[in-house]
Amino acid sequence: MGNGRTILFGLPGVAVCDVERRESGERTVHVVTTDPSAAACPVCGVFSTSVRQHRTTSPKDLPYGEAPLRVRWRKAQYRCREPRCPRKAFTESIAELPPGARVTGRLRRFAGAAVGDGGSVARTAERLPLSWPTVHRAFVSYADSQLTEPAPPAVLGIDETRRGRPRWTRTEAGGWQRLERFETNFVDLAGTGGLLGQTAGRTGAAVVSWLDARGETWKAAVQVVAMDPHAGYRAAVAAALPNARIDADRQWFKAERGLGVEQTARNVSICHYAVAAGRCRPSRPPGSGTGAACGGSGPGRLKITTDPGVGPVGAGVAGRRLTEGRLCG
Ligand SMILES: [Zn+2]
Repeated sequence: MGNGRTILFGLPGVAVCDVERRESGERTVHVVTTDPSAAACPVCGVFSTSVRQHRTTSPKDLPYGEAPLRVRWRKAQYRCREPRCPRKAFTESIAELPPGARVTGRLRRFAGAAVGDGGSVARTAERLPLSWPTVHRAFVSYADSQLTEPAPPAVLGIDETRRGRPRWTRTEAGGWQRLERFETNFVDLAGTGGLLGQTAGRTGAAVVSWLDARGETWKAAVQVVAMDPHAGYRAAVAAALPNARIDADRQWFKAERGLGVEQTARNVSICHYAVAAGRCRPSRPPGSGTGAACGGSGPGRLKITTDPGVGPVGAGVAGRRLTEGRLCG
C-alpha cells in the first residue's frame, strides 16, 4: 500500500492501494477504507469483524491533473452481531462519503464555492461534471455556511415579494417543478434597513417558521412589527411574537420614493407616492385644504379630499387593482 500515493490523493478515511493508467490517459485510483470507525454499526455503534461481502463503488471526486481520474472504492459490508440491534448489515462509510453519497464531500464543497465565486450552476455542473441539482444543493450548503445569523431588530418589517414570471426547477427524478412565486422578506427598519432573511411562500406558517428558527432571545428583542394589514401575517406575528406591537399603519416609504421623510403614515404615503409618481395630479397643491381632488372618481384615479392626502383611492395605484377606499379611506 503506497503511503505516498495515499498522501497525494488526500481523501481522509481511505488509502490508495493501486493506480492504473489506460492508453487513453484515464487513470483509476483504487482505494480501501482505513477509518476504523467505518466498522461500527451506524445504529447501535458496536464494532463488527464479520464481513458479509465486499462491494466496489465509483464515487465522483475532484478532478486532478488534465486526464480524467476515476475512483474505485472497495468497501466491506458487515453483519451486525448485536442481538438487540434491528440493523442486520451495514456497509462501510466515511465522513467524506456518508451512506448513499455518490460524490465526495470535497467535490461538493468545491462545486459550492465555485458557484459562490461567481460561476453559474450550469457551467460548474458541466465542467466537473456533476448534475445541475447536485451543484445547486452544494451551492445552497456553501451559502448556508457563509451566512451569519442576523442581529434582532427593534423594528421588524415583513412584506411579500412576487416574482414576475413563473419559474421552474429540476427535480431529483429529472422532471420539472414549478417554484413558489411568492416569498416573504424580513427587514431591519429601525437600524441598517438591511434584509435579514427571506423564506418561500407568503403564508402565516412560513412567517412563524422563520421567526421560530431565530430563537426566543432574538424574538424577545423585537418591539414593533411593521407590515401590511394581512390577516395571515397578523396571526403569525401574534403567535410567534406575542410581546411585539403590530404596526400596520406605517408604510415606511423611503425618500427616493418622492417623500421627504423615511417614516410616513400609510394613508399619507400612498397618496403622496401616487402624486410623486405622476399617477395623478392634484387640482390644487397639497396643503390647500380639504376638497383637493385629482382625476375624478373613476377607476385608476386618485382623489385627495384632505391634506395631506386622506381620501379614497381608485383602482390601479402603483399598478395594483385596489378596492376603493382600501388604502386611504
Ligand atoms: Zn447494530
